[in-house]
Amino acid sequence: MAAQRYSRQRELIYHTVLASRAHPTAEMVYTALKPHHPSLSLGTVYRNLHLLAQEGKLRRMPFPVERFDGDLAPHGHFCCQRCGQVSDVYTDCLPTADEAAALGHRVDRCEIVYYGVCAQCRAEGE
Ligand SMILES: [Zn+2]
Ligand SMILES: [Zn+2]
Repeated sequence: MAAQRYSRQRELIYHTVLASRAHPTAEMVYTALKPHHPSLSLGTVYRNLHLLAQEGKLRRMPFPVERFDGDLAPHGHFCCQRCGQVSDVYTDCLPTADEAAALGHRVDRCEIVYYGVCAQCRAEGE
């Protein structure tokens, strides 16, 4: 049944993002699943990632190439300008929504992104 297959694929895609620490792009999720699920298309992965983000199950991050995060707890990200890796940064100085709320705005999300060269790339010579 098409509907059944559809939701099973979505579960599969969701769990792939959850299990990953890499904040995968649609392409990365597709590459990870394709060998075991040959009928899967990149379009299906892309569509399901967006649906999951719309449902609030995944966090969608508008990097140059869109990435997805299954960790919904507030945290920042470090994006390496050399290797493109995205990793978590936990800090207790995340900004609050107070200033925006004082202006009458409703804040749905706030992204902290650090850009630079990651520790691994630095070790290999900056
Ligand atoms: Zn790097
Ligand atoms: Zn994250």
